Amino acid sequence: MDTAASFDIAGVSVAPGAAQDVTFQITTMATGMASSLAVRVLHGAKPGPAVFVSAAIHGDEIIGTAVIQRLAQVLRPENLSGTVLLVPVANIFGFLNRSRYLPDRRDLNRSFPGSSGGSLAGQIANIFYREVVGRCQLGIDIHSAAIHRYNLPQIRIAAGNKRLTELAMAFGAPVIIESPLREGSLRDLAHQTGVEMLLLEAGEALRFDRLSIETGVAGVARVLGHIGMIEADDGLANVGIPARANRSVWVRSPRGGVMQAVRESGAPVRKGDLLACVSGLFGEDAQEMVSPVDGIIIGHATLPVVHQGDALFHIAEIAHPERVGAQIESINDAILASEPEGFAERLLDEDEVV
Ligand SMILES: [Zn+2]
Repeated sequence: MDTAASFDIAGVSVAPGAAQDVTFQITTMATGMASSLAVRVLHGAKPGPAVFVSAAIHGDEIIGTAVIQRLAQVLRPENLSGTVLLVPVANIFGFLNRSRYLPDRRDLNRSFPGSSGGSLAGQIANIFYREVVGRCQLGIDIHSAAIHRYNLPQIRIAAGNKRLTELAMAFGAPVIIESPLREGSLRDLAHQTGVEMLLLEAGEALRFDRLSIETGVAGVARVLGHIGMIEADDGLANVGIPARANRSVWVRSPRGGVMQAVRESGAPVRKGDLLACVSGLFGEDAQEMVSPVDGIIIGHATLPVVHQGDALFHIAEIAHPERVGAQIESINDAILASEPEGFAERLLDEDEVV
């Protein structure tokens, strides 16, 4: 059996088959104290690729933090071929403030590649890119919807990339969205420097939900299995084939008032299907919101208090929405059935929230 060499990071040499937590000092804050980025290194006994899994680049999008906590419990370096770097909170300052942004109001995911002499966001981007992304061939970055919004678990990839499509199919989230790269984003920089990247969107900011966490944990495991880093059947037969979309539409509130939703994320819709009614404070003048396309709801507002023009539903255009809808209904069972041994033992309580 091949044995891996040691993995050197942050002045530490991690032996094959070992796990090690390392920290990178980012900057000093107004208190004069240093702030650091925490990374867990799982260095496999056997050689293989290096992969990072990161969360909370937007500091309030913490669903990936829960996914990474589960991965830290179930991935065993002695059974791993290659190296996994876990970054449970990338935007440490936004996480502390329960905010998407940095204290200087910058967006970390528009600040790559950053620099050591730059803004707070630029300093984190620089260290995160240099010390984590730059050591890896593949990354999975986990986001959620903004506060008061929910996203159906979905993988976002650049359009027209066969390898990324293959990895996204292996991940097995219900939907794959091909979306353009945003300048300054981690995905944009990874693309330019040849690091393969999947982005998982799942759940709601500042909340945990079981579908998102289980889809994330099982999906990362399936990708690691697919590229030969762990022994796990990729479970594609059990979760169904993800639907792919390259067009999506937002449906906006026709008036200000109070929304009563009748459909939510994961529901298949046909053009003209009712999504919600928005009425005045006494329930008067209710106006219907209907789907303008055939598709599946991939995001919805969870807050019923709405202004005219608020984007309340995000719908991916899909030719056979009922097939995807049926898959999502059964996905909790399918995810459990396809998880490698040990994954099912650490289910979250349904009520667990932060
Ligand atoms: Zn985000």
